[in-house]
Amino acid sequence: MSTASELPTDYDQTSKFSDEESCGQKAKRFFRKNLLLVLLILAMFLGIGMGAGLRYVQPPFNSRQIMYLRFPGDLLMQMLKMLILPLIVSSLISGLAALDTRSSGRIGLRAVVYYMTTTLAAVILGIILVVAIRPGDYGRKDNIERSGEAKNVNPADAMLDLVRVMFPDNLIQACFSRTVTEQIPVNQTDDVNLTSVANMSVFVEQTSDLIQNATNKTAAPQEFEPKLVTVDGINIMGLVVFSIFFGIIIGRMGEKGRPLVELFDSLNIATMKLISLVIWYSPIGVTFLIAAKVVEMEDPEAVIQQIGMYALTVLSGLAIHGLIVLPLLYFVIVRKNPFKYLYGIIQALVTALATSSSSATLPLTMQCLEENNGIDPRIIKFVAPVGATINMDGTALYEAVAAIFIGQINQMSMDVGKVITVSITATAAAIGAAGVPQAGLVTMVIVLSAVGLPTDDVTLILAIDWFLDRFRTMINVLGDGFGCGIVAHLSRGEMAKMDTASEMEKDMSNGHHNDGYETGF
Ligand code: ASP
Repeated sequence: MSTASELPTDYDQTSKFSDEESCGQKAKRFFRKNLLLVLLILAMFLGIGMGAGLRYVQPPFNSRQIMYLRFPGDLLMQMLKMLILPLIVSSLISGLAALDTRSSGRIGLRAVVYYMTTTLAAVILGIILVVAIRPGDYGRKDNIERSGEAKNVNPADAMLDLVRVMFPDNLIQACFSRTVTEQIPVNQTDDVNLTSVANMSVFVEQTSDLIQNATNKTAAPQEFEPKLVTVDGINIMGLVVFSIFFGIIIGRMGEKGRPLVELFDSLNIATMKLISLVIWYSPIGVTFLIAAKVVEMEDPEAVIQQIGMYALTVLSGLAIHGLIVLPLLYFVIVRKNPFKYLYGIIQALVTALATSSSSATLPLTMQCLEENNGIDPRIIKFVAPVGATINMDGTALYEAVAAIFIGQINQMSMDVGKVITVSITATAAAIGAAGVPQAGLVTMVIVLSAVGLPTDDVTLILAIDWFLDRFRTMINVLGDGFGCGIVAHLSRGEMAKMDTASEMEKDMSNGHHNDGYETGF
């Protein structure tokens, strides 16, 4: 793990890595960081052990008891989620306001190129593995137990939704809901209600002809029409887009924008301080989140027998991407030890594993990147929140593997056209997936319907999805972490120039209050 002495010194003055830090403070900080890491890893094992032990309790835990067991974990999730809104908004606004337009454009471009390249690399890796291992040949479709229900999704509507959420019509509402397209069955209300037992019995009493008609009616392909509905959940994408533009604008406003810049800067510092408190609660939360999940999990043996090969394909893809592809890319570009860098964000990775949510992990990701890996906070504030929202390598890899696996068990031949369609839609589906538990499963339906696979078959992989979700979230967070390191390295020249310019401006203004926010505008 990096120590303060190894860190570059060209950060702004609010950076925690000042030269004046005494040896005692450094030692204390080092101890604290490692203590937390040890506690988190212990928490994970304790959670697994506790959960495994409680599975043998007779009578088995009911849903109420599991809810009580998960309660301390739910508190952690809620605290982390509570911080997402102030963190994303304040980081992006204050981060972008502190950059000049040219730098933010270049940093943005570098980040987008990194996101797209690594996401595509993950998809291609997934496709190579699933085609080579052919997990679909190891099980028969009718032997695999289905769980849950698939949603009806229209691929075109789902793609439009990806863009629609970027521009919420009401910012306040975007803090707790999103507008999406839902497929509503045509004649749902004005036709005979076949689900009603009373109506059904009337039908049965009528002539056999009518019964036949009624049966045909249910069996006939149902028609759907699109309807815009509001669903619960924070519209992070909308808030990210708004904050990016708002930050750039107030940064360009010079003196007039300064009060707003200072407000969001101060909000950002306060939020980061709150995060430091929540982090100390995380080992307790992690223990109970994992224990509750282990207690409620279905018979793992049966699931492994049915779709174990599929899980193994996803896990090996994630491991190759996280331990070989991303570190290699980091090494080639930054020329530093990628595993030391990975170790610096391990706390965030363990949290991703426990929470299955890259958004909820974002506070820890940002803290680790700044404190342990010494990344310039101006880059973190910009690249990490956007990454947590759109950069999902793990999800993209899983979407590609899952779609082709479902194709294999349906014995569908996958020609080049279909493979390309899977690659493109899996990338889009990963970008569109929110950073919340099992969001990838929802956008998975886009990939399946794009290649003409039965969307219902998503229920075949549902039983193991909660498990794979944890690992793909970890890779999503790792991708964001390496992304920040790579973009910071590529942008170091601009950052240094901005620092020099702001220093010069300060000297020239001769004591006049100026901290360089309007540098370059
Ligand atoms: N749970 C993942 C995340 O938060 C998204 C997914 O793949 O379901 O990054």
